[in-house]
Amino acid sequence: MAEKKIILTGDRPTGRLHLGHYVGSLMRRVEMQNSGLYDETYILIADDQALTDNADNPGKIRDNIINVMLDYLSVGIDPAKTTICVQSALPALHALTFYYLNLVTTSRLSRNPTVKAEIQMRGFAEEGLPAGFFTYPVSQAADITAFDATVVPVGEDQLPMIEQTREIVERFNRTYGETLVMPKALIPENETQRRLPGVDGKAKMSKSLGNCIYLSDSAKAVKKQVNGKMFTDPLHLRIEDPGHLEGNVVFAYLDALCRDEHFAEYLPDYANLDEMKAHYCKGGLGDGTCKKFLINILEERLKPIREAREKWAADIDTVYDILREGTQKAVEKTNATLARVRKAMRIDYFDSRVIVKEWEALLRQTNQ
Ligand code: ATP
Ligand code: MG
Repeated sequence: MAEKKIILTGDRPTGRLHLGHYVGSLMRRVEMQNSGLYDETYILIADDQALTDNADNPGKIRDNIINVMLDYLSVGIDPAKTTICVQSALPALHALTFYYLNLVTTSRLSRNPTVKAEIQMRGFAEEGLPAGFFTYPVSQAADITAFDATVVPVGEDQLPMIEQTREIVERFNRTYGETLVMPKALIPENETQRRLPGVDGKAKMSKSLGNCIYLSDSAKAVKKQVNGKMFTDPLHLRIEDPGHLEGNVVFAYLDALCRDEHFAEYLPDYANLDEMKAHYCKGGLGDGTCKKFLINILEERLKPIREAREKWAADIDTVYDILREGTQKAVEKTNATLARVRKAMRIDYFDSRVIVKEWEALLRQTNQ
């Protein structure tokens, strides 16, 4: 039988989802979900993972479960095609994590560049590092393999996690026999979409850095973020001055989101982004015009998302049921994987009485 094609993605419910999630992963998830090319699609709300660095603030995680659900549904995740579930309600994931922890070394975990950066960012280097946070890439390996995922569409920051998962799969299968499915990361072709910078120009738009444009932000809030906070070019003081694109967030967002049609619609002075960039670099194009153009493009994307969100929010009981039912389905799926894993590891003592027969055979052997 040909291997099934299965997608798994997830997000930490540490806040509402933002434009970085959208261009880095959500957009792709919706496309893939609708492509008809995949046998099963799962989305995991990773609340356990979020607790690894929010142990003293579980309320924040709880508050965002429904928010993240609304974000999914409003960007076009279709519950008829995608199963959405909550991590903490899937006990198989905890058991798998525990077994996989034996297949990685602490030195391997300390080399994970994303975790290293996050440790710095969260101040854990000084305060002490929670063991759960240090090992979250292993729990992520449990998430991915529990669903037999073959493909994981993610932003660039997640590549080390998928690499770690692949190593665990390889080691598990070598040690216990072919059991786990080998997953592959899928990152956007567009370089800016892989890691969208924050409005403040910091390397990554991230809930934890507070530099986000949220998918649920009002038109007014988006405008305020772009006009008030968005980093451009500090050397571009007068319109006539030559502008620089390096580190210029307005142009980064245009790289990620704008298409030639947008020029005909909102900025007909140029045919495409290359022409606009050339003019900016030469001098004579003001940041205000660029920002206005970006606001139009953002609004075109975000308005339908905002409207869909309002509709779903008005029917919140249905949203809750979608999550409950999805989670039930995921319990079955992940339990099946755990049973396979336990069998491979020979710790499936109660699936049959075989262990008694084995013991009797051993006894006969020693008595001979
Ligand atoms: P936190 O700050 O709590 O870690 P986050 O904003 O980094 O939150 P996650 O839930 O960790 O969001 O990431 C979910 C998914 O979105 C991952 O696939 C990640 O690669 C992707 N993603 C997050 N931020 C960006 C970004 N700025 N650009 C591209 N992809 C992103
Ligand atoms: Mg993150």
